[in-house]
Amino acid sequence: MESFSETGLNRLIIEAVGELGFEKPTPIQARTIPHLLSSDRDLIALAQTGTGKTAAFGLPALHLTRPFDKRTQTIILCPTRELCLQIVKDLQAYAKHLKDVNIVAVYGGSSIEAQIKALRRGAQIVVGTPGRTRDLIKRKKLVLDAVERVVLDEADEMLTMGFKEELDAILATTPEDKQTLLFSATMSPDILAVTKKYMSDIEQIEVASRNKGAEKVKHIYYTAHSRDRYEVLKRIADINPDIYGIVFCRTRRETKEIANKLIQDGYNADSLHGDLSQAQRDEVMEKFRQKHYQILVATDVAARGLDVHDLSHVININLPDNIESYVHRSGRTGRAGKEGISIAIIHTRENRKLRDIEFKSGIRFNKGSIPSGKEICKKQLFALIDKVEKVQIDETQIGPFLPEVYKKLEWLNREELIKHFVSVEFNRFLEYYKDARDLNIVDRKKSTKKEKRSPAERRKTAFTRLYINAGTKNNLNPKRLIGLINHGLDSGTVGIGKIEILKKFSFFEIEEKAAPALIKALLGKKFEDVSLLVEISPEKKQKRNSNAKRSRNHYEKKRGGKKRKR
Ligand code: ADP
Ligand code: MG
Repeated sequence: MESFSETGLNRLIIEAVGELGFEKPTPIQARTIPHLLSSDRDLIALAQTGTGKTAAFGLPALHLTRPFDKRTQTIILCPTRELCLQIVKDLQAYAKHLKDVNIVAVYGGSSIEAQIKALRRGAQIVVGTPGRTRDLIKRKKLVLDAVERVVLDEADEMLTMGFKEELDAILATTPEDKQTLLFSATMSPDILAVTKKYMSDIEQIEVASRNKGAEKVKHIYYTAHSRDRYEVLKRIADINPDIYGIVFCRTRRETKEIANKLIQDGYNADSLHGDLSQAQRDEVMEKFRQKHYQILVATDVAARGLDVHDLSHVININLPDNIESYVHRSGRTGRAGKEGISIAIIHTRENRKLRDIEFKSGIRFNKGSIPSGKEICKKQLFALIDKVEKVQIDETQIGPFLPEVYKKLEWLNREELIKHFVSVEFNRFLEYYKDARDLNIVDRKKSTKKEKRSPAERRKTAFTRLYINAGTKNNLNPKRLIGLINHGLDSGTVGIGKIEILKKFSFFEIEEKAAPALIKALLGKKFEDVSLLVEISPEKKQKRNSNAKRSRNHYEKKRGGKKRKR
């Protein structure tokens, strides 16, 4: 389909779309619009982010709206408040020349009274988040018994966010013979279940090609030890002085931790996560949009509503649990015709996951080399020199001081002078990256040598040696132990040192500051058939060789003693 005029949409809608600069329908629009205008069959439309799904359902919904019937004819459900507002804004722009069509947004975190008022005036199209929509239905302020179409936008996200129950309740109040339209970037078993339950006689439209934006994304992965992830992140930021990016974390806790460290280390950064109030979130997002911050650390869910399109980088501090999330995350860079970079910091254990993403999404990763201290210094130095070259000079302001300045610096020749000026700005950097380690994991054999930290580095992160009452007998292995630790701390960034798995119990080293929290977190937790107990190992200071043996004796005695008591 070459133009909107061929779609059969109302002339006034086509006019508004033209004013927005839409020249022709996107592929998903070219296929969904004719369907919705001519058929009552339910529809599943699968297309990547940024392919124009809002207009794909929005334009036909507006076209089909009967202006003089004030009942709600279309209900659009979407996962977040931000998306809800975005959809309403888009629909209002498409409906600019239509008379008597009211579009109302209902979402949580905002006065329900105002929304009730708006609904009372008559809303033919309601766009809502599941929670608030259900609430309004319960209060009988929103009535869906005249609804002709239900749109589930970003259905995958709604399910990931756990809105299944709300959807059930809302859909139960809609008429049998409505048309149900499901839009999603991905198809998942959860979605399949929803379609089975609520949809019948389904037409499925899938736009296979990835959007242009996504094709402009370079996917790079760095392999590093878990404990080095933050350091790797810093190097990425340092080698890209003009970075404007989002760092994705799995948990709120990790998000906060990383953002705090970045702020302490002097970066323009902030965080976005579910512990913030809506007002705080809005403020952070606005500041990030205005490039007040260069780096935003966020969870997937919190970043959902952020409509920033010109990110230079998306950084995955670790790979997300599902493939769709990676696709969503990386889709946020490389928009608006610019090339974007999506970086995943992974551990060798995560290689399989990476291949899985490649296989299922068609994305190709290239292995990157974590920049060395020297490379970073060079990059930063040249960024500085560039700035010096291009700086605006205000002769009238600085002029009067210059003779005295020249005089004072007379004793330095040109080369020396440059050295001095550069060092003023640069010494801190050089100091930090002096003797910087190579953070790349090359391969097993080589890496063990490189990995050995210098005594100075070991001192930097103090480790505590802990005892845990599970061992090979309980199928504990290093991998599962690391899993237990990361899970217990809800973080993948804590430093883990030497691990010794013995038969009935084990020892491991962990960053000192994380030890108390871990001991607490794991106490009484079930692992296989053991109720876990973690304690600080008293042999901490003893020589390594004798460590295992002595500890074993100590605990053998201790455990034996306990047993006898029972
Ligand atoms: P999706 O919901 O698929 O992620 P959106 O509906 O948010 O995508 O659209 C992404 C961007 O593309 C928006 O800025 C929108 O205004 C723009 N857009 C949508 N349709 C067209 C079109 N036919 N021509 C040009 N731009 C479009
Ligand atoms: Mg959308």
